Amino acid sequence: MSLLNFIEHYPDEPSCKAQWKSIRDKVCSRCGGKSHYWKRDKKSYEYKCCCYRQGLKANTVMRSSDLPFRYWLIVIEYKIRVIRHPSIQKT
Ligand SMILES: [Zn+2]
Repeated sequence: MSLLNFIEHYPDEPSCKAQWKSIRDKVCSRCGGKSHYWKRDKKSYEYKCCCYRQGLKANTVMRSSDLPFRYWLIVIEYKIRVIRHPSIQKT
């Protein structure tokens, strides 16, 4: 998938948020438990181990950012491409 295809495939904030939700690490940062459920009203994971709630941006570079997920995913996708194909950065 090219970067343009990526942008077309994830055209808005809800699609990017859903993608990030599907790929992010889902481990309780308090105790390491993995059993969780999604609290739709809080927009966060709640871990069954200790009832700790963790948002989608928690423990990531996005944690204190108000930028939309779409911006972050485009940058992350671009950086992954540069790492895989360093010649991209020269263009
Ligand atoms: Zn926990």
